[in-house]
Amino acid sequence: MKIVLLGKPMSGKGTQAKLLTKRLNYQHISTGDLLRNEVKNESDLGKEAKEFMEKGLLVPDELIIRLLAKGLPEDNFILDGFPRTIVQAEKLNEIQTMNIVVDVFCSDEIIEKRTVKRRMCKSCGAIYGLDVPPKEDDVCDGCASELYQRPDDNLETIRNRLKVYEEQTSPLVDFYKEMGIYTQVNGEKPIQEIVEEILKEIEKVK
Ligand SMILES: [Zn+2]
Repeated sequence: MKIVLLGKPMSGKGTQAKLLTKRLNYQHISTGDLLRNEVKNESDLGKEAKEFMEKGLLVPDELIIRLLAKGLPEDNFILDGFPRTIVQAEKLNEIQTMNIVVDVFCSDEIIEKRTVKRRMCKSCGAIYGLDVPPKEDDVCDGCASELYQRPDDNLETIRNRLKVYEEQTSPLVDFYKEMGIYTQVNGEKPIQEIVEEILKEIEKVK
């Protein structure tokens, strides 16, 4: 089964990808990881990518596609963070045909709330938020250190990211509906319930 997870920033799709790969014993494929591996192994692709990364530039689609053509397993994987545009989705179709696209859907309101509520612990790395608040405001449950808010976790930044998502990524909904492989789950429910819902959807197309 070849699965694509789709979702806005802060939709929790990364968490879902991790949990699902464990449950299904599938590979979790993120283009970021594939990229880092190639760079580490100093392959030709890696060297090319590194030039862009060192300049702080986005690695072009064409290179990411070559990376996927090389790094995608034949089957049983979850693709996370790709595709983000119609062009990327069309290119992906040329490499392999996905079986199901699961959209972990959340309203913008929830995404904004999650963003401004997120707090991190500098000492132990624990993450708190809307669904898992610390027992005491701004204090880590685990190690009692003070919690902090990442500078990017503000309304202006998240609204910009949501706008980019709306413009570039949300057209994928119709794209995959036309292919007949799109399905949506409610990303505002508790994490474990979402996992079960996604597993059910996957069973339907197996
Ligand atoms: Zn802590």
